[in-house]
Amino acid sequence: MRRELLEQYARVAGEHVISHLEQLAAPLRGATIVHVNSTREGGGVAEILHKLLPLKEALDLNVRWEVLEGNPDFFACTKSFHNGLQGTPVGMPERLLSAYQDTVAANAEKLRGTLEDADFVIIHDPQPAALLQHCSGRRGHWVWRCHIDLSHPYRPVWKFLRGFVRSYDASIFSLPEFAQILDHPQYLIPPSIDPLSEKNTDLPETEVAAIFSRFGLDPELPLLVQVSRFDRFKDPLGVIAAFRLARTMIPVQLALVGGGASDDPEGQAVLAEVREASEGDPDIHVIDLPPDAHRTINAFQRAADIVLQKSLREGFGLTVTEALWKAKPVIGGDTGGIRLQVVNHQTGFRVRTPEGTALRIRYLLHHRDIMAEMGRRAREFVRENFLLTRHLQEYLSLMLALRDGDRERIELGAS
Ligand code: UDP
Repeated sequence: MRRELLEQYARVAGEHVISHLEQLAAPLRGATIVHVNSTREGGGVAEILHKLLPLKEALDLNVRWEVLEGNPDFFACTKSFHNGLQGTPVGMPERLLSAYQDTVAANAEKLRGTLEDADFVIIHDPQPAALLQHCSGRRGHWVWRCHIDLSHPYRPVWKFLRGFVRSYDASIFSLPEFAQILDHPQYLIPPSIDPLSEKNTDLPETEVAAIFSRFGLDPELPLLVQVSRFDRFKDPLGVIAAFRLARTMIPVQLALVGGGASDDPEGQAVLAEVREASEGDPDIHVIDLPPDAHRTINAFQRAADIVLQKSLREGFGLTVTEALWKAKPVIGGDTGGIRLQVVNHQTGFRVRTPEGTALRIRYLLHHRDIMAEMGRRAREFVRENFLLTRHLQEYLSLMLALRDGDRERIELGAS
């Protein structure tokens, strides 16, 4: 079973990639690795952990995933941390900060044994960051893995969070622009997609085509798709503005496909804004999906002529990677992790305004041959850079570096 999984990855990423993973994992066999985040469904972090863990297990690593439990005040507080860290000035009322501290303390009570015994603890994003201060008996190495765009943090929020993060042994960011002044080593590891998952696997053409009738789309009109949580940083209203401009130049329809995450309390309000902005427009389809609608999202990304991700801030943007893997050019906001993935004229276009977005939409729809060529390049770009196997290689290298940091030489090899 485990061997079979590795062979499946080898078929997509190459044999050499798998044997390198086996070499890196061999010295870590028997080590316990615990990941902690704040939701099991919805958003990029959960998406990655669902896929990373089975691959680690296939390499005989002893891995666990724990999820913080919190009340609405806790998630209101951490969502405002999230907004603040991505640059929005936010208030930090005492009541919410206490909810944050109390919730992390209560979770620490439950998880302390597991966390203190682990060889490696990887804490994802701000929500569980304060756990470390409750685990003074820790044995292992603790790494703070930041998935969000920290390029322009609102200072009071970062200052508060930095108080917890500074005690970690290392932190990981997706881009150099997100790195901060910290005394410990900072590593750059971009995220990845799983090519074998329901979200990304090949689909029969009939399943893709069925999207049009299932969601009331017009099979004759070119389709623009943005897949995102309903979040203001994803700029759904900017997408609607861009679409309306594009439609004055070329016939086209838009699907805004999304859903919520259990750690994101603002989703419903943003969804209501999007519904209001698109009300009565038969060419804008706002589609709210349950968190497990992976095949449906896969089909939307494949049915699209062009995928949009017009974010204003973006830690990485797995939705961009997913679309590129499906050989779709992406028109993406010129920000954060989108800059790593969307290379102008190669894999898509980076844009800043609805006007710029509309012009790129028109250009691509008028140049189908260029669009197809970009799509081919996009898929290879992801194969080289953003598959789960590369991501895990970097995690394993980081764990070896932390464990054997003082040694002059780290011996690798299947043992
Ligand atoms: N996603 C999903 N359902 C939705 C919206 C998003 O499954 O309704 C998935 C999407 O396909 C991607 C992840 O959630 O895999 C979002 O990751 P991304 O890095 O794009 O953004 P985040 O939500 O983490 O800010």
